[in-house]
Amino acid sequence: MAEFERVVLSGTPRERGIEHGERFADEVAANVETYRERFSHEGVDVDAMREHAAEYVEYIERESPEYAAEMRGIAEGSGVPLVDVTMLNVRWEVIYPAWKAQTEKANETVVTEPEPPIDGCTSFGVLPSATADGTTYMGQNWDWLAPIVDTLFLMELRREDAPDVLAMTEAGIVGGKIGVNEHGIGIAVNGLISGDDGSEGLRKPYHVRFREVLDAERYDDALRPILETDRVCSANVLVGHADGELIDLEAAPELVNPIHPDGGVLTHSNHFETDAVESVNERRGPSTLYRAERLRRLLAADAAPDDDSGDGGIDSESIRAGLRDHFGRPSSICSHVDESLPAVEHGQTNASLVIDLGDRRILGQRGPPCEGAYHEYAL
Ligand SMILES: [Zn+2]
Repeated sequence: MAEFERVVLSGTPRERGIEHGERFADEVAANVETYRERFSHEGVDVDAMREHAAEYVEYIERESPEYAAEMRGIAEGSGVPLVDVTMLNVRWEVIYPAWKAQTEKANETVVTEPEPPIDGCTSFGVLPSATADGTTYMGQNWDWLAPIVDTLFLMELRREDAPDVLAMTEAGIVGGKIGVNEHGIGIAVNGLISGDDGSEGLRKPYHVRFREVLDAERYDDALRPILETDRVCSANVLVGHADGELIDLEAAPELVNPIHPDGGVLTHSNHFETDAVESVNERRGPSTLYRAERLRRLLAADAAPDDDSGDGGIDSESIRAGLRDHFGRPSSICSHVDESLPAVEHGQTNASLVIDLGDRRILGQRGPPCEGAYHEYAL
């Protein structure tokens, strides 16, 4: 593992989608297959999930026509059916209802209620008061199904009518997940599950919201897409600004809990810190209970102001060292495949990203960060 392929997407939404689809046709098809295999392995009715995804085509056309046009472009460029491209873009929204149906069917035979696999992750943000160079850093390790590592790329959006963006995405997904725009607005995302997830209704998908965050020129407009309407399921979204602001949004279907940095440092993993909702994911992945806390302690150890300069001491090297932490391996901050699990369940850190919001610059490593050097990508 090592570098990310970097691809410029410009022109109309459809043209951007076609470029994306043509460049990554094999990877888009591979992602569809990976998710179908993984979810059917868990007992989910993937055909029902696909039918549910089909309902989102019209919904996204209506609510976010540019996003829909870019999805259509990906389908056109890759030759993968639009409904399958859509399924990738709404995978969080369709897995939960499918999961609930499966769980209800199995309820008489299972003792403990299983939970759907969601993206693991450990994210962080550091304010200028805690950094050696006075910049604002944020980013994360993105932990997820191991085969997906081969389909990740950095998309560089060059648009006349919206901000330029540099963001990592999975082949086939329009939104972008982790990245920064020209106005110094950054985003990082972690999976969360609450007991209320999985409404039957259609709501704006998270990946559409992530693109809207990256389209914002102002910080309040970057927070708005996560907050303004209810959601089908939960997710954790960290939104930062180059001028020294970070807010973590723990979003459940009908509630968002904001978390602010403490001592200039903020970390988050895959469980809710608020008691206002039932946090579920730790049942399936207990490592979430120590990953964020360890990263916070590792960073805080470097955050204290220097006697001479008065600045904090966190720099990109200390962040990278924290992201390579192996306590609890393989379920560590730098996460590795658990060889005792069947291959279809293999997960790992697929991407490690440190974003210098001030310089609109991403230090990135594709795959577990202990396995290679970070490469630099500037917007
Ligand atoms: Zn490692």
